[in-house]
Amino acid sequence: MLSEIIRDNIKALVPYSSARSEYSGAASILLDANENCYGSGADLSYNRYPDPLQQVLKRRIAVLKGIPEQQLFLGNGSDEPIDLLIRICCTPGQDNILIMPPTYGMYEVAAKINNIAVKEVPLTAEFAIDLEAVLAAIDPNTRIIFICSPNNPTGNLLDAAAIRQIVRSFNGIVVIDEAYIDFAAAGSLYKSLSGCWNVVVLQTFSKAWGMAGLRLGMAMGTEELITVLNKVKAPYNISTPVQELVLKALDNESQVIEWISKIIEEREWLRRSLTALPVVLQVYPSDANFLLVRVNDVTGVYQYLAANNIIVRDRSRIEQCRGCLRITIGRREEHQALLDALQQYSLSK
Ligand SMILES: *Cc1c(COP(=O)(O)O)cnc(C)c1O
Repeated sequence: MLSEIIRDNIKALVPYSSARSEYSGAASILLDANENCYGSGADLSYNRYPDPLQQVLKRRIAVLKGIPEQQLFLGNGSDEPIDLLIRICCTPGQDNILIMPPTYGMYEVAAKINNIAVKEVPLTAEFAIDLEAVLAAIDPNTRIIFICSPNNPTGNLLDAAAIRQIVRSFNGIVVIDEAYIDFAAAGSLYKSLSGCWNVVVLQTFSKAWGMAGLRLGMAMGTEELITVLNKVKAPYNISTPVQELVLKALDNESQVIEWISKIIEEREWLRRSLTALPVVLQVYPSDANFLLVRVNDVTGVYQYLAANNIIVRDRSRIEQCRGCLRITIGRREEHQALLDALQQYSLSK
């Protein structure tokens, strides 16, 4: 039950009431929020505070996602709801979260910032959920389980049946991070799990939608849970220009869909090309916009690429990713340069 998972201080919290949320009419004289009445130093008119609940934008995104807007939270990146959920559910120095490494680094960082312990139940050698080990690791202070699918940095979708089993068995919040779902063969799990009190699905405009610089993330969950997120967030967490720019970008859905299929095509082209190279030992299956690639002499390869102005992500210090680089899908000519450099690296040995 949600009320057992939320900290008492959050349950008792009276949220900050912003000036304009106390008046919902259409007044033309606004002397309530200590704004500058003349205009903005920036030459566009940003002198007024943004809508704290982003109602116009949220309505559009809810339609895009096919869910009621009451089940949608908008955050400053999806990193914001990750931090908020930890603060809402976990008592510092007492509770813990559970993650399945190798996975996205922010779950652990957000937990550590809040002095919350992190339980690690590694994925199996094939990067699958170790269901038995996860269920066995849950203790009475485990508040949140983070599941990233498709997983970063491994790229694979995690087993939906195992995720459902965790949702059914766990009396705590299950966060399903779908930052890369737009590139995946399977659809979002949200629709089929939206009735579950303990499920939060995260998505973002940073990847497929190409708006990483604007910072807009989404959390989907029950109305009860979304209400708590709204209560705890900073009142004006999404700025006016971001609300405006994303609203405009939503008109370009067909362009985004085209990019997604192009990225998936390029991903498969790059996979085939990499597999043919002597320096490449393994290319892992990917449902995301990157490939995890195991190479010979990972440090040498990484440095050779960097010396040739090609930057990839070195993941080789992570236990299960020994020898691995994470390569984001780019343009064909960028892939060609990467492949050429890898060829030259082999010849130089
Ligand atoms: C990129 C990424 C995000 C997105 O973070 P934003 O704050 O929305 O930019 C979330 N989760 C994972 C696993 C990611 O790789």
